Amino acid sequence: MHQHHLARAAELQFVDCHGGALTATNEAAAQAGGGSRRQVIVAGKRVKTIDVHCHCVIPRALALQGKDHTKERGPGLGDVGARRLREMDEQGIDVEAISINPHWYQCERDLAAEIVNINNETLAELCAAHADRFVGFASLALQFPELAVQQLEHAVKKLGMRGAAIGGSVHGDEFANARFDPVWRKAEELGILLFIHPQGTPALAPRLKGNGWLSNVIGNPLDTTIALSHLIFEGTLDKFPGLKICSAHGGGFLPHYAARSDNGLRVAPEMDTGVKLRKKPTEYMRDMYYDTLVYSDEALRHLAHEVGVDKLVIGTDHPIPWQADSVNHILNCPHFDDTQKRMMLGETAGKLLGIAPDFSAQ
Ligand SMILES: [Zn+2]
Repeated sequence: MHQHHLARAAELQFVDCHGGALTATNEAAAQAGGGSRRQVIVAGKRVKTIDVHCHCVIPRALALQGKDHTKERGPGLGDVGARRLREMDEQGIDVEAISINPHWYQCERDLAAEIVNINNETLAELCAAHADRFVGFASLALQFPELAVQQLEHAVKKLGMRGAAIGGSVHGDEFANARFDPVWRKAEELGILLFIHPQGTPALAPRLKGNGWLSNVIGNPLDTTIALSHLIFEGTLDKFPGLKICSAHGGGFLPHYAARSDNGLRVAPEMDTGVKLRKKPTEYMRDMYYDTLVYSDEALRHLAHEVGVDKLVIGTDHPIPWQADSVNHILNCPHFDDTQKRMMLGETAGKLLGIAPDFSAQ
């Protein structure tokens, strides 16, 4: 299937390069609500662009831990309204699927429940106020898996959330720990998307201090790499084959050195703990989704080659200024044809998040 897809992709690319069939890929600004809203048009047709990696905080929930939202990184992180819409209009993002980075995994049960409740209720209200522009990922108190199951069900069925945002581990516990299985079972049953956003690699803090903000620059993609590797190697993805997982930052380092995972236990069979996987590790990587926040044309081409272009969705990190030009990164990348660009810009995310591709609601 994957090979077939790549072969088809190569064929389309060939037509574009040699058949003089390069379709117009351009943009037009339109007046909407008094501001300039960039419209993204590929092959003569507007694409509903969807960003799956963008953050907010709910000030009232942060305050329960004595934190001040104005001190959090990211200008306008507490805004899910006019400012965010203006910046999305400039970037050419039609819909944001907004998540809240988990800051409550170490909290005791009552506090964690209260924070998650405030987050989910508030984010749902903010999204409902601009239903054509925002959808939400649920917060979960994952350290209490049976509570997280209830929170997930409530958030999806009652609040209209399209998925759940989770960290890279749960206060020292890996997602592959069987105690989280009920949460993954519920996510699979509901058919919703789990968005994995790393939280640094706290265990490596002494090695990541110093110049360069290495706790994030290296620590975040490493955190995702470790989380996904355990989900693969401990057999969690065999237990829940229908689980839909999307990872931030192009999946961290994992897809960029994918084949190494297929060779570890061949070289060191004594490290095999007895988990019998149904597939090669790289095949599980191609079952998951990743955002396009990898900056260069070559990194995006390689990521698509390793996991499949149909597994990639826009990630901007908005409003944290890691990448304000995600749309142009895809539009201008020479390695993809128009069909593939449309998939990455919004068609794939639309299917995952239940967002209609047309603009008739606007
Ligand atoms: Zn982020």
